[in-house]
Amino acid sequence: MKHTLPKLPYDYNELEPFFDAKTMEIHHTKHHQTYVDKLNATLEKYPELQEKEVSDLMREINQIPKEINMAVRNHGGGHINHSFFWEILSPTEQEIGGEISDAINETFGSFEEFKKKFSDSAMSRFGSGWAWLVVNAELELKIISTSNQDSPLMEGNNPILGIDVWEHAYYLKYQNKRADYIAAFFNIINWKKVNELYEEIVG
Ligand code: MN
Repeated sequence: MKHTLPKLPYDYNELEPFFDAKTMEIHHTKHHQTYVDKLNATLEKYPELQEKEVSDLMREINQIPKEINMAVRNHGGGHINHSFFWEILSPTEQEIGGEISDAINETFGSFEEFKKKFSDSAMSRFGSGWAWLVVNAELELKIISTSNQDSPLMEGNNPILGIDVWEHAYYLKYQNKRADYIAAFFNIINWKKVNELYEEIVG
């Protein structure tokens, strides 16, 4: 099985003015494509690992042979994180609703408090990485952050929302202003998808 670049569920310009078309195109066709290509190259001599879904490679990262472990972590993580990211973005502004809305209010006190904590997590990630809203093994909502392309699945956390805070995700439009990029992100979250993911996990 060769890993492939997924198609986006919208056009590159549809997230304007929040995410610009040029950044979206480069992010998808260059950055994400490179993770896919390097993951395939890494697995070339490991036919048994080629059969596995990338989510399973991440969950079983500790069983991946030492000589390719870091490459699978970086490129497999890069592939799954970006595939996830595209899915939780929406070209039309959405109101949060459903079970995830109640769960956020119960866990964080209010939506505004959640937004603040999530944004703080994304702001304080030093260097490159991601901030996430995950459902942990105890089915609790948690805000976590990961470095580089580490996937939340490596620690048994299921992501339901995430933001890429690598500079390549925002530098063209926002330069060093990561806070503005994070604020923009909140206008294009696909809450319907986030709620679906949440309901699937908590049953
Ligand atoms: Mn990225």
